[in-house]
Amino acid sequence: MEEREYEKFLAQRESEYEALCRRCGECCGASGEDPCSNLVGDRHGRYFCKSYSTRHGIQRTISGRTFMCVSIRDVIRSGAYYHGCPYGEAAR
Ligand code: SF4
Ligand code: SF4
Repeated sequence: MEEREYEKFLAQRESEYEALCRRCGECCGASGEDPCSNLVGDRHGRYFCKSYSTRHGIQRTISGRTFMCVSIRDVIRSGAYYHGCPYGEAAR
């Protein structure tokens, strides 16, 4: 496979991986008392990150507590589990 085709293949796989997210917001604290300040919900009950492209690194919750936002792969590897999250279910 040529380099450009391989990059296209990787982008496609990444896009498929991202599309698995159910937008429940649980990994960002949606049902907790102090969610991430970047988390926004829509009228259908789906959640989005308003800083998605720059999310990784130090972030703040709505109360001002700082924490490190890491990829869902790392969250799952650390042992966290969110019911119904496709990434966690696949790793079980
Ligand atoms: S817990 Fe899983 S499905 Fe829910 S928002 Fe996070 S990554 Fe997406
Ligand atoms: S910065 Fe991280 S924890 Fe906060 S909403 Fe975005 S993805 Fe979720």
